[in-house]
Amino acid sequence: MTDVFDGETRSRIMSAVRSKDTRPEISVRKALHAAGYRFRLHRKDLPGRPDIVLPKYRVAVFVNGCFWHGHHCKRFSWPKTNAEFWREKITRNMQRDQDDYTRLEHLGWAVHVVWSCCVERSVGELLARLAGKGSPFSM
Ligand SMILES: [Zn+2]
Repeated sequence: MTDVFDGETRSRIMSAVRSKDTRPEISVRKALHAAGYRFRLHRKDLPGRPDIVLPKYRVAVFVNGCFWHGHHCKRFSWPKTNAEFWREKITRNMQRDQDDYTRLEHLGWAVHVVWSCCVERSVGELLARLAGKGSPFSM
């Protein structure tokens, strides 16, 4: 198998994969749990298979890696090698995200995106948003 990635691209991908699959999502879960919220993970029956859903509040949370989801932030830049391949792939991811969010909203879900570059702030905003919808301890 030929190696299509240079070292810089590979390390970028590896860190993007790691941060998407583990730490940020776990921080979000911990914060929600500590605040008393009940949630479910990876609801396959919903568009985009949200990472976390809070059924009582009808809030769907996506924990997005900045690279794969094309976040406009310091952490993201278009790879210089295989530029066309990445541009196409990431653009397609971004379009799919938008489609999923729109479909969820049509189903009555509010969508909240937590970006891996600013998990703490994104979670703060999520908690504030949930608090505006009522206490986790009331039915
Ligand atoms: Zn970002």
